[in-house]
Amino acid sequence: MRATVMYGAGDVRVENVPDTRLVEPTDALVRVTRAAICGGDIWPYNQMQPSETGQRMGHEFIGIVAAIGADVRTVKAGDVVIAPDAWSDGTCVFCREGLHTSCLHGGWWASDGIDGGQGEGVRVPEADGTLVILPVGRDDALMPSLLTLSDVMGTGHHAALAAEVGPGKTVPVVGDGAVGLCGVIAAKRLRAERIILLGSHPARIALAKEFGATDIVSERGDEAVERVRELTSGFGAHSVLECVGHEQSTVTALSIARPGGAVGRVGLPQRESIPTALATFFKNVTVSGGPAPARAYIEELLPDVLEGRIQPGRVFDRVTNLDGVPDGYRAMNEREAIKVLIEF
Ligand SMILES: [Zn+2]
Repeated sequence: MRATVMYGAGDVRVENVPDTRLVEPTDALVRVTRAAICGGDIWPYNQMQPSETGQRMGHEFIGIVAAIGADVRTVKAGDVVIAPDAWSDGTCVFCREGLHTSCLHGGWWASDGIDGGQGEGVRVPEADGTLVILPVGRDDALMPSLLTLSDVMGTGHHAALAAEVGPGKTVPVVGDGAVGLCGVIAAKRLRAERIILLGSHPARIALAKEFGATDIVSERGDEAVERVRELTSGFGAHSVLECVGHEQSTVTALSIARPGGAVGRVGLPQRESIPTALATFFKNVTVSGGPAPARAYIEELLPDVLEGRIQPGRVFDRVTNLDGVPDGYRAMNEREAIKVLIEF
């Protein structure tokens, strides 16, 4: 089969890899029909050291079950299924608490011999815990929005929960990438009163407004902090979503939280330490978040997608096939595309 392999910064190839096959009785084989390129994939695209063997890529996919192992009970051949950003058993102590990314028997796609989502097929470990059946046909018009439940929409929702978003709250969202835009949807869905997008890209700002952003702050750094303070009676905001992970975006997010506020961070931190520790300490600011357990949120968010209440699939502004994946990485890296959908 063919799959995406990264060999170093800027070096993404689509090539032949060994076909998937059942290994464990709890495995399912999924023939991928839709996948995506994630903002998280752009970090190694910029920083990966050259590798002889390469790194398989992709952790967002929908497909059709092709075969199941002897112990698989919840899915069968022919089912249209979605996989979340990590695989998990659904039964361990952390899965039961809704933290599937810390599953005792789970792991990440595209590592340790597990296939990535940006390829024609994936062996899905712990299929009963990992996969969710989608009650739609293979090429349903809702596919782009459904695909966001594998990661970005769940991640925006996770940021909103970590930031304690709720009715009446003021919610700045730092970052206008796909996750930030999904964070706007999530904040609106949780009935935030005011949603301030911190971003500067005109097309993304327009989409954020359609998703429910009430204010836009396009300044950066200290000026952005000042603008948010002006918009919040000088206090700062209740709930801040940090959807980038850069040093500057993290400082901005922490600086615009009001005393007693909360920052939900889902951008992969680019530094080991959390900045402004002293200032946030004295303001009693909660700092929470991490990789989103997308599996925990699929059932909750699915009805909103199926019934059209949210349309997170609008973050996909480019569609390609497997051969177009290397150019998709380039387009996302150059901020030419917000997010790239791969059709098989
Ligand atoms: Zn588990």
